[in-house]
Amino acid sequence: MSKIKIAELFYSIQGEGRYMGVPSVFLRTFGCNFKCAGFGMSKGQLSTEADAIAQIADKFTKYEELPLVSTGCDSYASWDPRFKDLSPMLTSDAIADRICEILPYGEWKDEHLVITGGEPLLGWQRAYPDLLNHPKMAGLKEITFETNGTQKLSKEFKDYLVGWQMPDFDLNREVTFSVSAKLSCSGEARHEAIRPDVVCEYEEAGYTYLKFVVATEEDAEEAIETADIYRAEGFTGPVYLMPVGGVESVYTLNNRRVAELAMKNGLRYSDRLQVPLFKNEWGT
Ligand code: SF4
Repeated sequence: MSKIKIAELFYSIQGEGRYMGVPSVFLRTFGCNFKCAGFGMSKGQLSTEADAIAQIADKFTKYEELPLVSTGCDSYASWDPRFKDLSPMLTSDAIADRICEILPYGEWKDEHLVITGGEPLLGWQRAYPDLLNHPKMAGLKEITFETNGTQKLSKEFKDYLVGWQMPDFDLNREVTFSVSAKLSCSGEARHEAIRPDVVCEYEEAGYTYLKFVVATEEDAEEAIETADIYRAEGFTGPVYLMPVGGVESVYTLNNRRVAELAMKNGLRYSDRLQVPLFKNEWGT
């Protein structure tokens, strides 16, 4: 039976993107190919907040105890190896059981599954069919992969998802790829972060949109230029702007301005409702 290293598994409201406001189970897998230490920092600077917490990683026994950060990646413990002991390897059976425990009716009704990270398409593609085919997942209709858009789908996993679109597929099920492609404010190298070839392939397997995290007009301009690069390669899905801000003080500085930038440029606005609703605490 397949296993996945699970950083967090919780029930909340999806705060971002297409399914904003929908009650959702979040499966946060462990591991990421990026660090995104530039978020919330001045140009050219990298955050050391998560690094300082990692120096005392052995003091924490569960995610809920970890400090929130206002700069860098807000889910730092889901990929930094110094926190790996907080994330157990779980079988598909154990994950499906845990999901049924946290669903309000003990089974899938109208809830949506978010497979997030970390980078959920980095190491676990081989394990997802086993989980998604599990009898306890049969009532699940809508699934989103929250990805940074850099990991190619394996042939086997792509064929598996494309199979959901076939007339003989007996479950009513749709997959979405929510692609948060990283702009220069993330601190990641552009040639590694912007992979239209990869994202165009997601569109063959499911509904796909781009979601750029921005703070300034300059970021919004970069998002628009970058979206054009994806379009030139054949990308057809919608584009969202979303305010930077893993903590409320940063988010509230940005949200209205980003909404106005989205309107001005004819793009969609994505909030991050988990910040005003739940202060972006772990497990929300
Ligand atoms: S891609 Fe996402 S999970 Fe990975 S470091 Fe960046 S913000 Fe964090």
